[in-house]
Amino acid sequence: MGYIEAETAIVFGRVVHGFRMRWREDLWAKTLVVPGFSDGHAHPQVVDPGAGVGARRWRDSYHWLSTRRLRVDEASLRADLRLSSRLAELTFARALLEGVTLIAVTGRLEANVEGWLRLGGAPRAVFLPTVMDRRGWPSVGEVAVAARRIRRLLADGLARVGVFVHSLGTARPESVRAAMSFAASERTVMGMHLSEGVAEAGRLREVLGPGPYPVRIAAVHCTESEDLPGGVYCVSCPLSNIILYGRTRKSLSGVLAFGSDWPLLLGTVPRHLSLPLSLSPGSLDSVLYRATMGGYRIYNMPFQGDFAAYDEGVERVLMGKARPRFVAVAGRMVVDEGRLAARGYSLAEVEAMIADAIAEAFEEHGLGDVKPRVAAREALSLTRRALLEAPAP
Ligand SMILES: [Zn+2]
Repeated sequence: MGYIEAETAIVFGRVVHGFRMRWREDLWAKTLVVPGFSDGHAHPQVVDPGAGVGARRWRDSYHWLSTRRLRVDEASLRADLRLSSRLAELTFARALLEGVTLIAVTGRLEANVEGWLRLGGAPRAVFLPTVMDRRGWPSVGEVAVAARRIRRLLADGLARVGVFVHSLGTARPESVRAAMSFAASERTVMGMHLSEGVAEAGRLREVLGPGPYPVRIAAVHCTESEDLPGGVYCVSCPLSNIILYGRTRKSLSGVLAFGSDWPLLLGTVPRHLSLPLSLSPGSLDSVLYRATMGGYRIYNMPFQGDFAAYDEGVERVLMGKARPRFVAVAGRMVVDEGRLAARGYSLAEVEAMIADAIAEAFEEHGLGDVKPRVAAREALSLTRRALLEAPAP
């Protein structure tokens, strides 16, 4: 038995200097994050936000959904289990190498679970299969069958399965209520995009009643400051909100976690930490709590044995510029010397694989005369542009 000693640590969101905790061997870190970062909302199969994203803005999510010009046939990509699971695997790989120890993923359940299992040393995962009353998307009943089958595989606290209603505007009220009943009967969580550029708390009460509800609801985006029913917690995605709508939620109250939304295009939560920090000056501990413990709290996941250890100073971690040297999940080292313990890949290598997989998605499922490499490069340049253009707080 030994100790991890850290010059500075972020422990349950609080910055402390001179920190020591038990570990199976002696280890020294300049910065230690306990537990590691959480990413409360990620779509592993999003490889294309649509033409013109980054150059124009939308009013709200429904405006975006109805007018965006996708260059990838999403239904066809979702049906491609091989490529969809590859994108999921790369999402989990990137997340770990960026210091994320818990990630909640929406999209196709089978693809996400397969990618997670294949990595053989992944972050804790919350699988939230998306249901939508639209062509190419599964119903609550279909998801319930798959979720019950898969749940038996995941009974070790490293993963759980819930359900994700795409949004109030794309699912019938019966489907939203069916999703809640399913989540309640499985004693799990339900997620949904809510109030993304448009106030929806009133509509939520119309559909589900005034609350409190029998399940915890992770409401993703919540750009509007509204009074939400008890038990509904926000997962804020500040970077994609700014990219699409030019604005994000101002207040941290009601927000329990952050999400990256498009992890393959934008990177995961710790990469954009500078954004919520600059949007909420003077709230260091509150932002850090949400960026680390927040995801664990909202999805009710254990965190014992999770950490990310850095050779770099805490300022670099807060700027989103540092990458961990070691990452442990449930007491098992999954990143060792900056590389995936199971596979040996570095973050630069995984990023190159991501660029290839995105180009492949454009190649195999592209719409119109899209040039795969050019489209992939364009999609991958979003973060840098968005962060440069982000409005001053
Ligand atoms: Zn989303």
